[in-house]
Amino acid sequence: MIYFIGAGPGDPELLTLKGKKLIDQADVIIYAGSLVNPAVLADAKKSAKILNSATMDLDEVIAEMEDAESKGLMLARVHTGDPSIYGAIREQFDRLDKLGIKYKYIPGVSSFLGVASALNAEYTLPNVTQTVILTRMAGRTPVPERESIAKLASHKATMIIFLSVGMIADLSKELMQGYEPETPVAVVYKATWPEQKIVRSTLENIAEDVKKAGITKTALIVVSNTLGSDYELSKLYDKHFTHEFREAKA
Ligand code: SAH
Repeated sequence: MIYFIGAGPGDPELLTLKGKKLIDQADVIIYAGSLVNPAVLADAKKSAKILNSATMDLDEVIAEMEDAESKGLMLARVHTGDPSIYGAIREQFDRLDKLGIKYKYIPGVSSFLGVASALNAEYTLPNVTQTVILTRMAGRTPVPERESIAKLASHKATMIIFLSVGMIADLSKELMQGYEPETPVAVVYKATWPEQKIVRSTLENIAEDVKKAGITKTALIVVSNTLGSDYELSKLYDKHFTHEFREAKA
């Protein structure tokens, strides 16, 4: 059996119990070495064959899976954060389906959630925004024109931008086509790792502040008025508001 496991954002204790158990039992582990914290593999079996997918292509990954399957071995494919976000899991699923090899997918804590915890942020606040957009700038992988940063920015929702901190100067200009220049922005480098860094700024100043902090990769950019201090209290905990589990108080 093949297990696709979300390894979480970095801190090895942010792995699910299920993911941890499977990694510790695996005979073969293929992990995304560029981002997965090796500490996540600390309790792997001594006999486990551990491979770093950073140096492998899709055919090589699938060949290892076929080989493990033919020997009746358990293989853990370990992806950073949660594999549903820029994880390149679908192409692996489709190949395994063709080969008739069974697999299961164990979710993980995506880095955008690790970043929320690092910032003590709530991405959705009453009367500020109720929407979160996860996106990236176009790089070697193109982004459809209808999803351009400027178009998405026009909603003034919370926007969380992956894989793009190296392009922060161009990015912030595009964002200002939708958001005000004073909109709060946070850039978090290696959230939940010991070397985590947080830069808080505004759209007009963020590019310079990120440059000063020396951050060029492995960071998320959060653009959101929820990072400011204006919002309304929730209805959920409002004592004058009745809901399914609680009566309003006079
Ligand atoms: N599947 C992953 C994302 C993979 S894309 C997830 O759910 O988090 C890789 C990008 O994710 C990086 O370029 C960076 O933008 C972001 N990233 C991954 N781990 C991070 C971390 N600990 N802190 C900040 N950003 C991170």
